[in-house]
Amino acid sequence: MSTATLTIDLDAIASNWRALANIAQAETGAVVKADAYGLGADRVARHLAAQGARQFFVAVAEEGVALRRALGSGPSISVFSGHMDGDAETIRAASLTPLINSLDQMLRHVEALPGHPFGLQLDSGMNRLGMEPAEWSALRDIALAQNPTLIMSHLACADDPNHAMNEAQRAAFDDMTAGIDVPRSLSATGGILLGADYHYDLVRPGVGLYGGLPFIDAIPVVTLDIPVVQVRDVAAGETVGYANSWTAKRPSQVATISAGYADGLIRAMGPKAQMHAGDMAVPVIGRVSMDLITVDVTDLPEPPKSLQLLGLHQSVDTVAGFADTIGYEILTSLGSRYNRVWRT
Ligand SMILES: *Cc1c(COP(=O)(O)O)cnc(C)c1O
Repeated sequence: MSTATLTIDLDAIASNWRALANIAQAETGAVVKADAYGLGADRVARHLAAQGARQFFVAVAEEGVALRRALGSGPSISVFSGHMDGDAETIRAASLTPLINSLDQMLRHVEALPGHPFGLQLDSGMNRLGMEPAEWSALRDIALAQNPTLIMSHLACADDPNHAMNEAQRAAFDDMTAGIDVPRSLSATGGILLGADYHYDLVRPGVGLYGGLPFIDAIPVVTLDIPVVQVRDVAAGETVGYANSWTAKRPSQVATISAGYADGLIRAMGPKAQMHAGDMAVPVIGRVSMDLITVDVTDLPEPPKSLQLLGLHQSVDTVAGFADTIGYEILTSLGSRYNRVWRT
């Protein structure tokens, strides 16, 4: 095998889902947009449905079509981008629930698909999706008369429990939904961890299912083992990689491994990154190139056959830190060349 192996532990995802459901004490959906953050939406969603998940969320209608094929009829599939122009037939055929973002979307939906289920998205301050308070007060009575299945909003700063924005958005959401008898949802992973005031009727975790922060107690989900193509001796003073960016200070052994930035191991992480050989950490040296990365393995007792980037020793968030980004971006960048193995 010359490509790296990405192992995805479906039972770990299920454990994380149950742990978050247990904290929330509310109906717990699963956000499987972007192919379940790169881990395979069809397998992840089927596994979670078998554990009892009944509500799934995707970003766009096209993702919902593929998910419906994987899940069959039964579970609800909601679409964050709502009912976009040209989506009516897709929404109807795949029985998707658009989360309506504006008056325009509302009109489009009731004209094209009268009686078809929908939810409503309100803007409580993030200014990204959903109806603003003024638009909502104008539309509210008409929208409620059409029997929405859910009213939701999204928190901008939930990964920081001390941020004043959390409470401000919660208060805005309460104001906009006062006296309404429709199930409500405000929280993704971060909001679940803010406490019971943020849970409402339904929570929508994504990254926490996949082992990422801010769910600090998440069980790790992904392992990435990258095979070594060759190991060479490098004399003191010789250089390694593009732009001669690393110079050996001592006689060294350098392993060249079979993955690079084309596989989502972003170039920016180069100088700070490390890999693992069993328990031992070894530094990435030189530039990350498209298909290859060089690693200083001088201190290992014997030349490795493969090195691990993600696993028990190193989380997606640790790797994200090497490149000054977030675990979400590392997960969703994981490349299509990997040999993906789903374990239960
Ligand atoms: C992506 C997303 C989620 C899931 O967020 P996580 O931080 O990954 O848990 C929930 N709700 C909305 C509206 C989203 O866009």
